[in-house]
Amino acid sequence: MLKIHREPFIQEIREDWILDKGLQLFIKREDVIHPQVSGNKWRKLKYNLLEARNQGKSTLLTFGGAYSNHIYATAAAAAAAGYQSIGIIRGEELADKPLNQTLRFAVETCGMRLHFVTREAYRKKNEADYINKLTEKFGSFYLIPEGGTNALAIKGAQEIVDEKTKEFDVLALSVGTGGTVSGVISAAATTQHVIGFSALKGDFLIDEVKQLLEDNCKGRFTNWEIETNYHFGGYAKHTEVLVDFIKNFEDKHHIPIEPIYTGKMLFGLFDKIKQDHFPPRTKVLAIHTGGLQGKKIRD
Ligand SMILES: *Cc1c(COP(=O)(O)O)cnc(C)c1O
Repeated sequence: MLKIHREPFIQEIREDWILDKGLQLFIKREDVIHPQVSGNKWRKLKYNLLEARNQGKSTLLTFGGAYSNHIYATAAAAAAAGYQSIGIIRGEELADKPLNQTLRFAVETCGMRLHFVTREAYRKKNEADYINKLTEKFGSFYLIPEGGTNALAIKGAQEIVDEKTKEFDVLALSVGTGGTVSGVISAAATTQHVIGFSALKGDFLIDEVKQLLEDNCKGRFTNWEIETNYHFGGYAKHTEVLVDFIKNFEDKHHIPIEPIYTGKMLFGLFDKIKQDHFPPRTKVLAIHTGGLQGKKIRD
């Protein structure tokens, strides 16, 4: 069972120019939930770990890139809850190189077993044949897909929306695979509006989220949108402007954020507020989904 290290809490982001517009901006600190299994990854893993136990599985297997928050969190969650773990890592060439901080943590601190595969093999990660081959190689395991998104992850992400969270008009959060935002959309009150800020370039996530909601959540949801204009060049890419924004935000509010997910979301949210996207008296809640392990590595 995955334990909560610290209960997430809501705090105000006070800036005069925001108050002058008659708006209130708050942030929900999901990043504090666990020091290693941070933010939305904790939410997404919670029911998967319980399901693994119910199925009698003692090993978790998942997929990710070399800097993946999901690999880091899965390795830590497995170690904390008493599972073995295997990480299938994209990039065969990495096998001969020294491990980066993310992978070193997974292996040395958490005991994750890594298996590096070519990009071609990695693309087969959702194919039954390939999964069977992995079972032959590693024995029985509980499979968690890349990024951790599945029905149980969405169920866990729904728990981000508690009673206090429902007091806000707008919920804003970052989107990678769409699992977390699908949970938030499906758990939000019908009067709330959810804005997911895509961390990836392109607008394919709009359809992905539609599909995730259709496949996993009962009901029809119209209370959401995916904002695709704040990717800063694509996944894990950033610009000087974004880095400056993050520095300023951290100096002013003493809340750590990273440039891959929450930094982009907050930049986009500030920009929308500047453009008077929200009417006066709107109460906005940004959700800090964590992921701070990625920060140390890249800036
Ligand atoms: C993984 C991650 C996301 C994206 O979550 P999805 O459920 O894949 O959309 C957002 N923020 C942080 C910090 C993450 O690590």
